[in-house]
Amino acid sequence: MPKRFVIIGGGPAGNTAATTAARLGAEVTLIERDLVGGAAHLLDCIPSKAMIATGGTMDEMRRAASMGLVAVEAQLDFEALRSRIAGIEARLEGSVRGLLESQGVRLLQGTGRLVDDHHVEVTGPTGATEVVEADIVVLSTGSRPRIPDWAPIDGERVLTTRHAYPPPELPEHLIVVGSGVTGVEFVHMFSAFGSQVTLIVSRQQVLPQKDPEVAAVLEDDFLGRGVKLFKGARAEGIDVSDDGVAVRCDDGRVARGSHVLLCIGSIPNSEGLGLEEAGVVLDGGYVVVDHNCKSAVPHIYAAGDLSGKLPLSSVASMQGRKIAEHALGLHAGPHRHIDYEKAASAIFTDPEIADVGLAEADAFAEGRKVRVTKVPFSASAKALINDDPRGFVKIVSDPATGVVLGGSIVGQHAAELISVIAVAVTAGLKVADLAESLFVHPALAEALSDAAD
Ligand SMILES: Cc1cc2nc3c(=O)[nH]c(=O)nc-3n(C[C@H](O)[C@H](O)[C@H](O)COP(=O)(O)OP(=O)(O)OC[C@H]3O[C@@H](n4cnc5c(N)ncnc54)[C@H](O)[C@@H]3O)c2cc1C
Repeated sequence: MPKRFVIIGGGPAGNTAATTAARLGAEVTLIERDLVGGAAHLLDCIPSKAMIATGGTMDEMRRAASMGLVAVEAQLDFEALRSRIAGIEARLEGSVRGLLESQGVRLLQGTGRLVDDHHVEVTGPTGATEVVEADIVVLSTGSRPRIPDWAPIDGERVLTTRHAYPPPELPEHLIVVGSGVTGVEFVHMFSAFGSQVTLIVSRQQVLPQKDPEVAAVLEDDFLGRGVKLFKGARAEGIDVSDDGVAVRCDDGRVARGSHVLLCIGSIPNSEGLGLEEAGVVLDGGYVVVDHNCKSAVPHIYAAGDLSGKLPLSSVASMQGRKIAEHALGLHAGPHRHIDYEKAASAIFTDPEIADVGLAEADAFAEGRKVRVTKVPFSASAKALINDDPRGFVKIVSDPATGVVLGGSIVGQHAAELISVIAVAVTAGLKVADLAESLFVHPALAEALSDAAD
């Protein structure tokens, strides 16, 4: 008899677990309270990247004069942008739904909750309930923006990221609270749209987790765009009036603008799922999982943001796939556990920032001996052709063996280029393998083989 999978949450974690398990012969039920595709496709990554692409086109048009063109200032059409995003979301939702249906996954619209460790109750949109029996349960309910008690979120002037695709109106002056990955992407996006932007940065550097050299390139771009940086300040209160908002900071400064957007992290969707009653152990709301994404209950797995590992869509999908393989006994042989240290990630600012594996600063902090080679894009013919020589490629390798341990790229198309270093890190390639690969000329990727040389 096929194993019965019941999956709660249809984001990248849940839908990849569902399609993989179905392909491997399991009987799969996927429960989603909203639309399949999850926050990744419908609320977070895809709409934010779609808006960034629109802002990027506006930036390119502003730079047209340097390419021998007569520059024209593009005007943002907010309604057209809104329907562009809705169109992308609808197509993605349709393709995820089509894939699930073609694999024979049973889709149940409703809110799922464990009744016990083998039964999931689904409450549908009309309030009708159904109980589904499971051999394997996958919890993949994602996360949502963290809202501190000092923030009077209203979706009008005081926004979370979920109100920003796009917001009700184009902010004249947006205050972004939080300078991590999400915060800096919104700063970039809205300054490209023409909004004035103030960024509240709790430390002395934007992107506090990143290499200072990488953060410095982004700060230069922000200052060039006229973004105001409130460094070393923590927001602790928001006053809303008819014509704007005032964000009070702990150092006494007050940032004034038309709207404020909070980008201060997320919290897991683990309440009301009946987890602890079923024996699942939580830590800070996240499900505690082992290297196979297994919870304290051996046949209950958790994936994606709920698992408290790296909150990335790519990681969520990989966890979903690995769970299906593991639960169906394919964990021997070529199956490998996820090595989160080797996950590539990118920040879609201008220039883009991407990294993978060991960072130079971390190697230094750990007292680990590494070889670091760096090539600036100003030495790249393609970057000059594109009239954008900003940024660099940095490769971190083991000085004894030459094995590539990590790398960072700042510059145009960094999110695409990092894949080459990601493959090298995952496959244990050596710098010589990159240096001896014949890349296209002229191409930005040549900077990778030059850095490896
Ligand atoms: C602004 C922003 C930008 C981002 N950009 C990127 C990016 O560029 N690249 C990247 O890799 N990651 C990005 N991320 C992170 C990415 O969105 C998440 O890591 C990813 O969505 C996690 O996937 P998931 O499957 O765990 O959860 P989700 O995508 O959140 O899906 C969970 C699903 O579960 C459903 N659900 C919840 N509770 C229940 C229940 N009880 N019953 C039924 N259904 C339920 C929800 O409706 C939802 O559809 C971004 C995040 C944010 C906030």
